[in-house]
Amino acid sequence: MNSVQTISGIQARNYIDGQWVASARQFESLNPADTREVVGVAPLSTAADAAQAVEAAKRAFETWREQSWVRRAEIIDNFAQLMKRDLEEMSRLVTRECGKPLNEGRADVVEALHMAQYVAGMGRQPNGFAVSSEIPAKDAFILRKPKGVIVCITPWNFPVAIPLWAILPSVLAGNTVVFKPSEETPICGHKLMELFAEAGFPPGVINIVHGTGEEAGDALVKHPDVAAILFTGSRAVGKYIQQTAAVDLYKFVATEMGGKNATIVLADADLDIAVNACVLGAFKTSGQRCVSSGRLIVDRKIEPKFTQMFLDKARRVRVGNGLRDDVFMGPLINQDGIAKWKHHNARATEEGGEVLLDGKHLTDGDYAYGHFVEPFVYRFKQYKQSTFCLREEAFSPHVAIIGVDGMEEAVRVYNDTEYGLSMAVITEDYRKWRWVRDHADYGLGYVNLPSIGAEVHLPFGGVKSSGNGHPGAEGIIDSVTHRIAFTVNHAREIVMAQGLSTKV
Ligand code: NAP
Repeated sequence: MNSVQTISGIQARNYIDGQWVASARQFESLNPADTREVVGVAPLSTAADAAQAVEAAKRAFETWREQSWVRRAEIIDNFAQLMKRDLEEMSRLVTRECGKPLNEGRADVVEALHMAQYVAGMGRQPNGFAVSSEIPAKDAFILRKPKGVIVCITPWNFPVAIPLWAILPSVLAGNTVVFKPSEETPICGHKLMELFAEAGFPPGVINIVHGTGEEAGDALVKHPDVAAILFTGSRAVGKYIQQTAAVDLYKFVATEMGGKNATIVLADADLDIAVNACVLGAFKTSGQRCVSSGRLIVDRKIEPKFTQMFLDKARRVRVGNGLRDDVFMGPLINQDGIAKWKHHNARATEEGGEVLLDGKHLTDGDYAYGHFVEPFVYRFKQYKQSTFCLREEAFSPHVAIIGVDGMEEAVRVYNDTEYGLSMAVITEDYRKWRWVRDHADYGLGYVNLPSIGAEVHLPFGGVKSSGNGHPGAEGIIDSVTHRIAFTVNHAREIVMAQGLSTKV
């Protein structure tokens, strides 16, 4: 394997207990825009590797938990400065390894940097507080305690930002971490691990185990010494992990999963904003965002005009290698992504969708070695319940335009999926967006914006089958700490709350 030619020159290793550890088996990470380019090589870890990492994290927990929040935050601040130093290099790596255009690769790294800065600042925020007791001589406190070893399992589409949503709050609070990056983006994970090591996290505090979900990931989920699992990825895998971990009653699982998101365009919408928001929501990251809008729910009064304007713009979307400045849509991540896109497109036709833009799988010339497809757009003039293509996540540039009569039908259609992640509404009427805000099911809502876009000081997560109520970024500290009550008596006798007698 040493002879493999890699673009980044990175031969990733596992990092366990402060040591870079080689593995007998390895796998290649390929550039989805040109699969002749090997971005790097990473270990195909075994269950034994995963167990070693958990044991190292368990040992490190005993001393790491003794450090102050401020000291831990200082190391996170070191890390933030290294991220800033390497921002451009990392942005290009994200584009090379997961295909999204460079402006999106950079936004991923900038969001990661923001998370590091935000969490470093949290080190000097209150991490508990005093409350009154019924009894004047008692002081009562609500405090946060770390949980122990936390496993962070992350997807490929935000290979830098999403791991940091999970890892940094965990270590700030005194937990130790085993990180399993996606097997599609191991080199981005490796680069993060290099920076963690350089920033000065002590051995065992953050460990990385590469490899497949089925082998390394599964072993981490099942390990008895793991206290919590922070998972971001598909609904099928999230459900499996939640059910598997439930066998151990003490294990906590936070799952952030997929969506069948929508942009609702009401009759009074500014059509320029509507079309822009829909193109960004549908085609940024080639539709491979958990928050991508696969459904455009449009009031019938304006649907023909909206559709014409949307198609005009969608036809102008430039597809290609994300390192080129003029490219809007990079490749899909792999052949499975293309197969899924084709399957959803075929189902849309079978189920009665009117195809308006029959996007092609691009295989010639510059596209020959990548996973490139064009936007696929179809229309249902009337909503059809129980339709696969309108209810299931396609994770690709596959978009339905659905005609509806007014706001109430729009929200009924929006809610008719098992998911509840992201919703955008386009209207000039504050009474209307307020009604939609209160009646649609989602974790992320937007007005006169695309259904995409996150900031780290806001919670990021969904409802229904999109997430189990423990959002990432802001607020994740709740998932990685136990909140404990602690009461101290200052009197020379025992006096109990609720007038409970102390007479023996
Ligand atoms: P995925 O296939 O579910 O994989 C996510 C992670 O889980 C990967 O690291 C994967 O490893 C691992 N994994 C797979 N099987 C496992 C198992 N049995 N035990 C433990 N770990 C396992 O998702 P993906 O394709 O990487 O990402 C796309 C999905 O993520 C979409 O559904 C998208 O909507 C969702 N997503 C959600 C959010 C959110 O915040 N709600 C954000 C981004 C993406 P391998 O890489 O080896 O398979």
